[in-house]
Amino acid sequence: MDRYGVFGNPIGHSKSPQIHRLFAEQTGQVLSYEPLLAPLEDFSGSAKGFFETGLGANVTVPFKEQAFRLADQLSERAQRAGAVNTLTKLEDGRLLGDNTDGIGLVRDLDNAGASLQGKRILLLGAGGAVRGVLEPLLAQRPAALVIANRTLAKAEQLAGEFAELGAVSASAFEQLHGPFDVIINGTSASLGGELPPLADGLIKPGVTFCYDMMYGAKPTPFCQWAAERGATSRDGLGMLVEQAAAAFELWRGVRPESGPVLTQLRSQLGA
Ligand code: NDP
Repeated sequence: MDRYGVFGNPIGHSKSPQIHRLFAEQTGQVLSYEPLLAPLEDFSGSAKGFFETGLGANVTVPFKEQAFRLADQLSERAQRAGAVNTLTKLEDGRLLGDNTDGIGLVRDLDNAGASLQGKRILLLGAGGAVRGVLEPLLAQRPAALVIANRTLAKAEQLAGEFAELGAVSASAFEQLHGPFDVIINGTSASLGGELPPLADGLIKPGVTFCYDMMYGAKPTPFCQWAAERGATSRDGLGMLVEQAAAAFELWRGVRPESGPVLTQLRSQLGA
């Protein structure tokens, strides 16, 4: 059977095996997709072993940068992101590295009806996730994209690297001038139940759309903050499903329907 999987450490919590099984059922594709626990000190050995028979693998925390280094060939978006979340074995046996996180976010924003063209976007954080979404976000031609981060130097570094792709700048949280049309949380603050220091004036009630890349059974602290100030909000479960759909399409040449899979995952999260 055609073999796929997802590398991570830990990996037991990953929803990717379920998502890909649902995609396979829906599209009538016959394949297996397994969680792959790689040791922290030997991702490369595990990946090479898997690809003796495997055809493709997703890569999650903490191996995305190592997968970037392992790939023999990189898509342009993976090159810009400096990270790989999708590896594909080519016919000659070499590994192609791609990154579908950014397109996953843009597609899920589109699912939510949030348009980005000509809008003022605030992007919170300057880690791997933010680096991965910058190019596809700028491709939507926002009027301005401001990156705010606790460590300002990292936001400035990213703004400099992506300046040729659009109107991107960096700011400290305290220096931000709102309101913004779209605010995207790409920090890991929600993981610890925290929020970056965000002023109230960043949101225009009834207009601003807020998106948290994090997701959970309950609204994240960022989504709660947004709702309390009159903004519509959405968490990152749809981004997870859409990045998987893009990887599935890359491997199988068929684009699965993400909506029903998202509905099923959401109801299980809430149960
Ligand atoms: P990184 O560790 O690379 O970066 C973390 C970022 O969060 C840094 O910018 C860091 O700031 C900031 N940060 C952490 N804690 C706080 C805090 N208390 N207050 C303010 N800023 C804080 O993580 P990733 O970029 O890989 O992941 C970020 C988030 O995105 C995670 O929650 C992850 O789950 C989510 N994600 C979701 C995906 C999806 O499909 N839905 C896909 C990929 C990621 P500093 O630089 O100052 O340390």
